[in-house]
Amino acid sequence: MPLHLYVATTSKGKLRDFRTAAETHAVSIDPLPDLAAIEPPEEDGDTFAKNATLKAVYYSRFAPGAIVLADDSGLEVDALSGAPGVRSARFAADAGLVDSPDANDNSDVWNNIVLLQRLDGVPPPQRTARYHCVLVAARNGESTHLTDGSVEGMILNAPRGTGGFGYDPLFYLPKLDRTMAEIDLQTKLSLSHRGRALAALLAKLRI
Ligand code: IMP
Repeated sequence: MPLHLYVATTSKGKLRDFRTAAETHAVSIDPLPDLAAIEPPEEDGDTFAKNATLKAVYYSRFAPGAIVLADDSGLEVDALSGAPGVRSARFAADAGLVDSPDANDNSDVWNNIVLLQRLDGVPPPQRTARYHCVLVAARNGESTHLTDGSVEGMILNAPRGTGGFGYDPLFYLPKLDRTMAEIDLQTKLSLSHRGRALAALLAKLRI
C-alpha cells in the first residue's frame, strides 16, 4: 500500500508543490480534511523548525492515527541579515502595507514590493539569498521526523515569470538562468528547498 500523508497547509502554492511531488514519489498526499474549519495555531516560533513542529503536532491531533506534515519555510536574504526569514509570509504586513497575510497568497505582490524596496541600491553580487524549508511529520500529537532543505539564488530587481508563488518571480537561479517562476513544477521540485526536504522526509518515513 502506498504511503499516505496529510499535509496541513492552506497555501495554494505549497499544495501545488506537494501534489507535484506526490506524482514523482510513490506516495499519496492530500490536504488535511476540513482544514479550513480548524482555527490555526499561532506561529510564534523564532525558527522554521519550531513553527513547523508546532503546526505538525497541533494539526495531527485532528487526524488520529494519520501522518500529518507541516512545512515552515521562507526566504533568507544575506543583505538583509537573513530577513524576511520566518516572517516571509508577513513581510508586507509587518511593514504595515497589508492588514494580515491571507491563505490565498494575495499578499505575495506586496511582499515582493517590500523586498524590492529594502534591496533598492544593493548591487547584484550582494543580492544573494536562499529559500529554506523545514518539514515535520507528526502523528497523534507527537512529532516523529524533521528534515530541511534549501536552495541558493539571487534576488532580481524586477519580477520575471508567471509560475510558482510567493517570491518566485524575484528568485533567480544562476545555474538555470531562470527564476523560480520561469521553471515547470517538476523542475522546481527537483531542486527546491521544499522538494529536497520532502525527499529526505520520505526516505526517513520509508526506513
Ligand atoms: P509559512 O506559511 O509561514 O511557511 O510562509 C512561507 C512564506 O515563505 C510564503 O508565504 C512565501 O512568502 C515564502 N515561500 C516559502 N516557500 C516558497 C516558495 O517555494 N516559493 C516562493 N515563496 C516561498
